[in-house]
Amino acid sequence: MNKFQILVVEDDPPIQNLIAVTLKTHDYKYLLARNAKEAILQASTYNPDVVFLDLGLPDADGVEVIHRIREWSNMPIIVISARSEDEDKIEALDAGADDYLTKPFSVEELLARLRVMQRRLALLDAGKETPESSVYENGTLRIDFAAGCAYLNEEELKLTPIEYRLLCILAKNTGKVLTHKYITQKIWGSAWDTNVASLRVFMATLRKKLEGGQENVSYIQTHVGIGYRMMKVDGKEE
Ligand code: CA
Repeated sequence: MNKFQILVVEDDPPIQNLIAVTLKTHDYKYLLARNAKEAILQASTYNPDVVFLDLGLPDADGVEVIHRIREWSNMPIIVISARSEDEDKIEALDAGADDYLTKPFSVEELLARLRVMQRRLALLDAGKETPESSVYENGTLRIDFAAGCAYLNEEELKLTPIEYRLLCILAKNTGKVLTHKYITQKIWGSAWDTNVASLRVFMATLRKKLEGGQENVSYIQTHVGIGYRMMKVDGKEE
């Protein structure tokens, strides 16, 4: 039995059933909730490891559930939304969600997202690579926060101050999707469109320095129209 317990918040029976069967097949423990009220009650009573949260709930918007859970817990929340509009996902991510799935999604996609969260939790559990830790390691990337230096294959990366800050923000949130708004506010203190445009430029140059010399290694995932995510690269997945 997988020791992970997952709270599934979904009011649509076929989708709830699909997720439940998938989790059961892969030996995950799970709890079910059909509305926001049940979701908050289950989350606070059982303290699940991961929450799959539908945004369109009958009694409240899923974003409200995220706000409520974030009042007391950092449990990973993966938003599930039928709405293809990026605004909903961005709002959910800015409220504190970690990742998202867009309906319709495949079972493989659901399991992949879950594995990313498991690795994120494993890192936090190990007490490594938390914001308080002074050294970050991921694949051949190493950041020495105290020294303010980043290394790739033991060679120091020549980063501009903004590229370095960008790398640190992503690294400290490995596994989590960060919105353009979140990142630009961290770097420039505001999220104007011009900052988002600048962010794209800095991200492109950072990426080139980070991934240019290596084949098949991709540290930073782009979420078009939404933001970026630092991936753990030395796990089973890319
Ligand atoms: Ca729904």
